[in-house]
Amino acid sequence: SGLVVSFGEMLIDFVPTASGVSLAEAPGFLKAPGGAPANVAIAVTRLGGKSAFIGKLGDDEFGHMLAGILKQYGVIAEGINFDQGARTALAFVTLRADGEREFMFYRNPSADMLLKPEELNLELIRSAKVFHYGSISLIVQPCRSAHLMAMQVARDAGALLSYDPNLRLALWPSVEEAREQIMSIWDKADLIKVSDEELKFLTGSDEIDDASAMSLLHPNLKLLLVTLGEKGCRYYTKNFHGHVEAFHVTAVDTTGAGDSFVGAFLCKIADDRSLIEEEVRLREAIKYANVCGAITTTKKGAIPALPSHSEVLSLMKGSQ
Ligand code: ATP
Repeated sequence: SGLVVSFGEMLIDFVPTASGVSLAEAPGFLKAPGGAPANVAIAVTRLGGKSAFIGKLGDDEFGHMLAGILKQYGVIAEGINFDQGARTALAFVTLRADGEREFMFYRNPSADMLLKPEELNLELIRSAKVFHYGSISLIVQPCRSAHLMAMQVARDAGALLSYDPNLRLALWPSVEEAREQIMSIWDKADLIKVSDEELKFLTGSDEIDDASAMSLLHPNLKLLLVTLGEKGCRYYTKNFHGHVEAFHVTAVDTTGAGDSFVGAFLCKIADDRSLIEEEVRLREAIKYANVCGAITTTKKGAIPALPSHSEVLSLMKGSQ
């Protein structure tokens, strides 16, 4: 199967042991490895695919712990750098009573923000079938330049570019800047995944209808996926669009569902990118990704909740 190279941040989420309380009232925190691009890389290997992670961690206990987790899951770690000065990024999570999550970041700056273009493992990037990234690595220099260069190198080597903006407003200097920078690389991607909330943010529309989604298509974009949580996923290409219902489960914690979905979909695309062109096969791949997202909501945390290929197959079989 083809290599998925995932670029961006990896950090530690400190998740409170109680929900519906403020950070100050939280009785304690559990450390959970996170960072969407790292989750995606692990989602791929869990499903039997090949992946690599490119990014920078602190040369501290947390940074080495995170690199160790990637390796333990079989993710190629040759693209990881360690910063001698800055620390691994941390995020303190608030679990709101309505089930939403809020993040308070410790990045002043954190090691991931200091990745330089000259530190990129270009050989690894050139071997990607799919190159995947978010938008957090665009926020500050020098990481922004490293991100843009990695995209260019991957594209020149023939990789498919996959973009999940993964909006974290708290990290941007302003709402306008977030929208502008996220859109500044829009027309470079072959494949984009947004959530319903991100679609609303990027289009400025209150509706998540086909017209607003299609306003985000651009001439080079082969596929736009809009994930809708328990309502599944919509897809848009130049030639067709449609909806694939979610797989029904009882959700416990939705953390990582989007990353699980993306990893699963990229696994399929890395094997055969032509599936985007045929609606029947595209729907099959989205169905598989929906099942992966659904399974991830049935367990706590992101990485521990990512399914293996056999778990997905047995669940799909059992439901028929
Ligand atoms: P995240 O919570 O990781 O930020 P996201 O907002 O990017 O996720 P979602 O739309 O929540 O993405 O979830 C991605 C996919 O996972 C959905 O398209 C769906 O297939 C599946 N999924 C998410 N939540 C549920 C649910 N409650 N029941 C069934 N499937 C779900």
